[in-house]
Amino acid sequence: MAIKYAEEYRDPAIARQLIRQIRERSKTPIRLMEVCGTHTMSIFRNGIRQVIPEHIALLSGPGCPVCVTSQWEIDAFVALSQIENVIVATFGDLLRVPGTDFSLQEQRAAGKDVRMVYSTFDALELAKKNPDRNVVFLGVGFETTAPTVAASIFSAQQAGIGNYFVYSAHKLVPPALFALLESEEVNIDGFILPGHVSTIIGVDAYRPVFEKYRVPSAVAGFEPVDILRGIDALVEQVESGEPRLENVYARAVNDEGNKKAMALLAQVFAICDADWRGIGTIPASGLSIRDEFATFDARKAFDLKVERTEEPKGCACGDILKGLVAPPGCPLYRKVCTPASPVGPCMVSSEGTCAAYYRYHGE
Ligand code: SF4
Repeated sequence: MAIKYAEEYRDPAIARQLIRQIRERSKTPIRLMEVCGTHTMSIFRNGIRQVIPEHIALLSGPGCPVCVTSQWEIDAFVALSQIENVIVATFGDLLRVPGTDFSLQEQRAAGKDVRMVYSTFDALELAKKNPDRNVVFLGVGFETTAPTVAASIFSAQQAGIGNYFVYSAHKLVPPALFALLESEEVNIDGFILPGHVSTIIGVDAYRPVFEKYRVPSAVAGFEPVDILRGIDALVEQVESGEPRLENVYARAVNDEGNKKAMALLAQVFAICDADWRGIGTIPASGLSIRDEFATFDARKAFDLKVERTEEPKGCACGDILKGLVAPPGCPLYRKVCTPASPVGPCMVSSEGTCAAYYRYHGE
């Protein structure tokens, strides 16, 4: 029985049934925001926009980790790569994001030591293998990736590794939802909540924002059936006038989340204000390294003087992350900004909305 349930999300018959149900149920024009960049990519890849009624608008939200990283933080990463004896270790998506003057990839081409890693423990290994160098891992991402970064810091402390550092630019999803709903310009009828993040924080983490704003919400996975289930749940909530905080990804997400991961997060990180691209500073929406682990904190270990730089002129990433415009609404889209020559992170990241539009939308 459990196996059948696990495979249901790949069943085309269920997908067809959900599409029929959404078409029958949906009468009201609505704007649904998929908060997670992986949802955005899956929606485009699987043609979900094409099979639901046109009056259901799917908007991308602030759920692509690279895209929400502010310009000055990208500049800080570039500045780290320019410090003598530093190896910058990062996930691949960050390499091509343009900073004000350079990207990390350009710094690498200029001879700086910037390495792509696949996990935080690869970065830790790099530190072990290079005891005479300082290895800085760029901590970008949400509650999903932050526990692995916390684990690497904890392991470094346990193993007495003194040349491993983390620059934490982590961000938290629920405070961003508060910020979006508090903003008068944003108009959202429902949230498709992020599956990955929710496996860590649990459904209950969204309860305060749901109780305050009563916006229909559904935690959904990433397969086509998962996403259609999320849309169907939101359509039902809107049409019935009964908003709920629903979990249609119960095979991976529970109410309380992953307690071990959350405990590790709380042990290594403290909650702090964070700067989000396009949104600005959101109170209590980021993670800083606790004083007990300060020796691993790149912000404290290195004398970085980075100005609060502006985002690239003309780039509409900020408005795209708030669901205010779609990429074709950006004057630079396809004309100046392409995946080969990106202006903003939304065109670089594998989860970026502009990259998804460029690849799948044909417009
Ligand atoms: Fe920014 Fe390029 Fe997207 Fe325009 S198309 S919003 S310039 S990333």
